[in-house]
Amino acid sequence: MRVLLVEDDRMIGEAVEAALKDTAYAVDWVRDGQMAIEALASHRYDIVLLDLGLPRKDGLEVLRSIRGRDDAVPVLIVTARDALEDRIAGLDAGADDYVLKPFEMAELLARMRAVARRKGGTAGPLLGNGVLSLDMATKVVTSNGQSFALSAREFALLEALLIRPGAILSRSELEDRIYGWGMEVESNVVEFMIHSLRKKLGSDAIRNVRGVGWLVPKNS
Ligand code: CA
Repeated sequence: MRVLLVEDDRMIGEAVEAALKDTAYAVDWVRDGQMAIEALASHRYDIVLLDLGLPRKDGLEVLRSIRGRDDAVPVLIVTARDALEDRIAGLDAGADDYVLKPFEMAELLARMRAVARRKGGTAGPLLGNGVLSLDMATKVVTSNGQSFALSAREFALLEALLIRPGAILSRSELEDRIYGWGMEVESNVVEFMIHSLRKKLGSDAIRNVRGVGWLVPKNS
């Protein structure tokens, strides 16, 4: 998953960024509302973690701008504002869920998975296409009754493909799911990860559409 973290508090931002990277999410961190709007205009994210009290543009303004352009990106508000009217305003403005500071990192991660799953159209903790089944909490994939542990990058890539079985993702879209800003993209990393996933899951698990990208079959 590629995550936009919008947080002006350096300590919280660093802690969340580190935890997300540990979880194999690609993270872009911006520190004010205006930069958040610019990032969202130029990149596709799987989820936004949005603080409300922000310099330059308030988190609620950011949220209204996102929904005003019909962008359905999942938004999880992460804020110390616990007044009921703030929570209601956030949800009314189109937030998908709410986490109050201070929070436990494990809860934040669990809520992120839940919001991402709901947007992906799956209700359970598993992503799958009828052949493969990926547990988003444990990062274990099951295929034909066999379970395989995945590396962080293998997980990031397979998760991106399994969120929408049948959809073709290009090399740069897959790289976006593995790397955040400022990280050097190693050449052939996508091919390398696909190769190692196929070795575990079988060569039919991920299909290549020549010159376009890769997909997991919808229902094979
Ligand atoms: Ca703040």
